[in-house]
Amino acid sequence: MRIFNSLTRKVEDFVPMRPPRVAMYTCGPTVYSYPTIGNWRTYVLSDLVFRVLTYMGLRVEYVMNLTDVGHLTSDADTGEDKLQEKAVREGKTAWEVAKFYGDDFVESFAKLNLSKPKLFSKATDHIKEQIELIGEIEKAGFVYKINDGVYFDVAAYEKAGNVYGELSNLEEIKAGARVEVNPEKKDSRDFALWKFSPSEYKRDMEWDSPWGRGFPGWHIECSAMSMKYLGKQLDIHLGGEDLLGTHHPNEIAQSEAATARKPFCKYWVHGAFLIVDGGKMGKSKGNAFTLNDIEAGGFDPLALRYFYLTGHYRKQLNFTWEALAAAGAALSKLRQFAAAFREQKGRTQPRGGTRDLRLSPEKLTQIDEFKKSFCDAVEDDLNMPEALAVVWEMVKSNIPDYDKYELLVKFDEILGFSLSDFWGERVEVSGKAEELLRKREELRAEKRFAEADQIREELNQMGYAIRDEEGGAVLTKI
Ligand code: AMP
Ligand code: ZN
Repeated sequence: MRIFNSLTRKVEDFVPMRPPRVAMYTCGPTVYSYPTIGNWRTYVLSDLVFRVLTYMGLRVEYVMNLTDVGHLTSDADTGEDKLQEKAVREGKTAWEVAKFYGDDFVESFAKLNLSKPKLFSKATDHIKEQIELIGEIEKAGFVYKINDGVYFDVAAYEKAGNVYGELSNLEEIKAGARVEVNPEKKDSRDFALWKFSPSEYKRDMEWDSPWGRGFPGWHIECSAMSMKYLGKQLDIHLGGEDLLGTHHPNEIAQSEAATARKPFCKYWVHGAFLIVDGGKMGKSKGNAFTLNDIEAGGFDPLALRYFYLTGHYRKQLNFTWEALAAAGAALSKLRQFAAAFREQKGRTQPRGGTRDLRLSPEKLTQIDEFKKSFCDAVEDDLNMPEALAVVWEMVKSNIPDYDKYELLVKFDEILGFSLSDFWGERVEVSGKAEELLRKREELRAEKRFAEADQIREELNQMGYAIRDEEGGAVLTKI
């Protein structure tokens, strides 16, 4: 696979450090509210990378964190902890808020057919590891303490010959510097590793540390947990493009400070943002839609997944309800094709055997070409719009339906549209269809399969698929 590496700003061949293993880490959500469809775009990107690497035969160890402490309302390490703030607003504890939204996030994976990481790791379950890592950074000489916490010293880190902020361009660093700054910080780029509990009120989440009672800064959790579960060096690390400016440069600096410059991660992959109706989405604008909103609008969340795949991950994608409806219609057509092809497969598949051996060499080449074009597209920096174009070209081609179905099922390992599970709506039939169905059952009971298949074809032409269940065959509308 070739993929754009934000570190080198080039599309590069993906070569893991210890194949077939791939150590993959994705920055997960801050669990204080429902994720937006913008957040989900980034998680679908992670899922696609996971699926493509797995499809290529690699063994991907995938970890995602759940940020349940330390993410403040301002990236300049000031402001309130997002969870604590929400807890006060909802009259709950921060623990309750984290559990509710964390559980909801994990459960929602199934709705978008997202591959689950081997672990969702919570920041609050790894306080010890974070304290130990800060201790390592302190030993290396890049830590100082001020009134409100313990900070990473960027200037000292640079003085020791390291480069800070390789991932971000100058504009992003400047943007980071623009936000309000704690005057006690030595440099606006310094960031909190450990924050002290405020004196004015008691936080729900706080722990003792060698520096004082408090809680970890937002960035340190990702370094501590990825190192614990995946080792000191990652193959690939993902997140949304907003993390290029501060969070990811900070992850690199603190990790490499603690490991005497072992490169923390080989490939950094960032997804472009989703916008809504041509503008930034926002809670105040009422357009920070969630999966619940998508479902309340009458859409299958997989229509959203299809919609995401219509755009390249490095380009901004504009969500409109019309575009979602178009994606939903395309998905539903694809599922109907899949169901119809499956019916043909049932008929043309030689019993107990493999593919129709009479297939002409040209058809075989055409089938292989489709497979190759699809793989070429996904392996070319995840060009999913191109991969979808190949899918439609294949569906409309004149290769046998049996092969179309086989290819769709194979491609679906990456697309994740549940194409083989789709059977259409179950229908009760009367009249001719009912009669044909009964006749087919009789023929099958007498093992007269060729004649039974002819009837199946007739039913298909009438728009029905047949599903053989334990209690007998049922018809679905395709
Ligand atoms: P957060 O919960 O704010 O920490 O964000 C979780 C993930 O969603 C991060 O990887 C963000 O970069 C990503 N993200 C946030 N907003 C958007 C958006 N509008 N489009 C795509 N990804 C986003
Ligand atoms: Zn992170």
